[in-house]
Amino acid sequence: MLLMSGSYHTIQGAEKNPSYTVAVNDPIAPELGEVQMHAVKPKAPVVGRVVSTESCMQGRSASFVRHVSIDVSGTPLAGSFRAGQAFGVIAPGEDGRGKAHAVRLYSLACPTLGEDGSGNVVSTTVKRVIDEYSAEKETDDQEAHHLFLGVCSNYLCDLKVGDEVLVTGPAGKRFLLPADPSKHDYLFIATGTGIAPYYGMVRELLQGSGDPASSEIHLVMGTPYTTDLLYDEYFASMAEEHEGFHYHRVISRSDVRREYVDRYIDREMDSTFRSFFSNPRTLMYLCGLEGMESGMYRMLARHGLSEGFVEVKEPLTLEEHETWDAKSMKRNVKSGPRSLVEVY
Ligand code: NAP
Repeated sequence: MLLMSGSYHTIQGAEKNPSYTVAVNDPIAPELGEVQMHAVKPKAPVVGRVVSTESCMQGRSASFVRHVSIDVSGTPLAGSFRAGQAFGVIAPGEDGRGKAHAVRLYSLACPTLGEDGSGNVVSTTVKRVIDEYSAEKETDDQEAHHLFLGVCSNYLCDLKVGDEVLVTGPAGKRFLLPADPSKHDYLFIATGTGIAPYYGMVRELLQGSGDPASSEIHLVMGTPYTTDLLYDEYFASMAEEHEGFHYHRVISRSDVRREYVDRYIDREMDSTFRSFFSNPRTLMYLCGLEGMESGMYRMLARHGLSEGFVEVKEPLTLEEHETWDAKSMKRNVKSGPRSLVEVY
């Protein structure tokens, strides 16, 4: 995925815009290895069968999130995916124009060997959509505000064990663990259901077929309330068992301290994260809400820790990060080779 250019790496996509070329020492750019795409195409989905569906919630929460596992054995999807990729689901019925619903992508929450250890069972972390309709275009009814339930997530949450579901995939080429995970240390940052791929990756690193990874791993999880933490018991138990695994909970609506993931890392920079970002083995993964990406990049620029994680092109400069606004960042700031990003 990375094209060599002297002692520099040209980042994917830079062919179109050479100004994104940055200096990076060889050992720190991740080699992601082979990845399959679209073994099952959206135009020819295959039938999977739900084998488990469990609530991820603990205590009283305003959200409903489920861990749904689907058996895809006997289909080309089986054994073709890697942790961090996504798979597609096609909800039954038609859209407003009378066409079959388009495929919706869901992050895999399982390791590369699936939930069953043989690559036959995929899983995801899916949150119910319960919202109020609001107009998006001028031509939309500006007064309409009825209940909006979306198309696919509630369908997936409603499925019972034994139900059939149309699936496709895998999709996604870059949000992956390196081909040799032992070459790196990991900072996994999630907001909400952005935790899904890390549930697969952490299981792969700590409980995969070989010895547990000796890498240092930090998982930073941001949610509104403690009752929204997902797979919390699992990650807490891994932190007890594995000296190199560190689990950080960041709660944005706590009565004690209201914090976002970037502000938490900022606060803990000197005690925990500065040496981690300075370490050439470190890879940073971001998954969840779009806003977290710019927050992290700004914060890293302020600490002088951008190298390899953030790329900036003119007219913006790292030194003038205080002047970056959302619009200029969208055009001129992007992830470096040591940042792997899946945000929406
Ligand atoms: P959620 O439970 O609402 O949690 C999101 C948390 O992030 C809240 O604590 C929120 O705080 C905080 N937050 C809001 N703005 C932030 C910012 N700019 N920087 C850092 N933290 C911020 O999350 P959710 O409803 O599950 O949504 C997760 C998002 O991840 C969805 O958009 C989903 O599409 C996406 N996602 C992406 C993937 C993927 O890319 N593969 C996979 C799964 C999910 P407050 O609400 O208190 O302000």
